[in-house]
Amino acid sequence: MENQYFQIREDAPFIMAGPCSAESEGQIMDTARALKARNVDLFRAGLWKPRTRPNTFEGVGSVGLPWLKRVREEIGLPVTTEVAKGRHVDLALEFGVDVLWIGARTTTNPFSVQEIADALKGVDIPVIIKNPINPDLNLWLGGIERIQVAGIRDISVIHRGFNFFHNTKYRNSPLWQIPIELKSRFPEMMIICDVSHICGRRDILGSVAQQALDLYFDGIMVEVHPDPDNAKSDAKQQITIDEFDELMASLVLRRQKLENSAYVHEIQGLRNQIDELDNHLIQILNQRMELAESIGRLKMANNIPILQSKRWKEILQSAVDKGQSFGLTEEFTQSVFKAIHLESIQHQSRIMKDSGHASRAASR
Ligand code: PEP
Ligand code: MN
Repeated sequence: MENQYFQIREDAPFIMAGPCSAESEGQIMDTARALKARNVDLFRAGLWKPRTRPNTFEGVGSVGLPWLKRVREEIGLPVTTEVAKGRHVDLALEFGVDVLWIGARTTTNPFSVQEIADALKGVDIPVIIKNPINPDLNLWLGGIERIQVAGIRDISVIHRGFNFFHNTKYRNSPLWQIPIELKSRFPEMMIICDVSHICGRRDILGSVAQQALDLYFDGIMVEVHPDPDNAKSDAKQQITIDEFDELMASLVLRRQKLENSAYVHEIQGLRNQIDELDNHLIQILNQRMELAESIGRLKMANNIPILQSKRWKEILQSAVDKGQSFGLTEEFTQSVFKAIHLESIQHQSRIMKDSGHASRAASR
């Protein structure tokens, strides 16, 4: 479409950067100036911050609107902020915010998205829709549809990862197959990868950003703060301008259009799914071992031997039955469960041995 703000570029990714939250006028102006000098496309700063827990910094609110106005007027950098209510939309429009973004918590709630859509009727402004917190493609699609029905033509999406399983190395698991599926439904829609909220930490931002580019994402979003450790929100994941420079310099754009890019897309998506499942497998196994250790402690406190053959036979039989109902052979399930069982027993024995040492030492 002509005159769209979100035009997919083949030669350079769209870069959106700025602090998680606007904290002061000075912080906003300094960060925006530095990012403008680096040709960033869009400056982000949250004014109304949806926080998981109360009594945390909830943003400066409308006080920051004139700061964003200064960024666009004095520095000439387009600005965006998160809107979660109709009132936020009205205020952002009043202060000339260039682009609105809908946050992950809001996309999760169709009532909220609808309220924003109603406030947007008759308005022509680009809108970015983040994926919902939970891995539900339909909820994301529903959010896009509501904004489309309100008459907004210029829509892009941000992939910020999903709350999928605790304890992964990510703050929000990427589950790449979901944004890839979304992209295949809307090939013309710009898709931006929010590496900051996926990672929740600084050390893996680069690898996730590269992975996003390799998967043909059209842009990257990253949180930048003059003093990340003392940021009022998302302190662990924000980076300094110098780190932003390093991140950008490290990225390789693979735009040589492969004839078979559909194949590349598909195989990458499948491989990513395998990697994530393997990751979860290891974590589940670890949790199982921790439980076995707790059982070991309990048995020891009650003077009960480790090996309970009857219980073990029941576990094995039930696993084999379940496995067979999913088409796994008996041989396979048996060998996997025997290996798990052996490892659990070793963990329990270690507990007994360690506390045996401890109690002998205590009695000496
Ligand atoms: C943010 O971008 O700062 C934010 C709150 O993100 P999300 O809605 O993805 O959690
Ligand atoms: Mn943030």
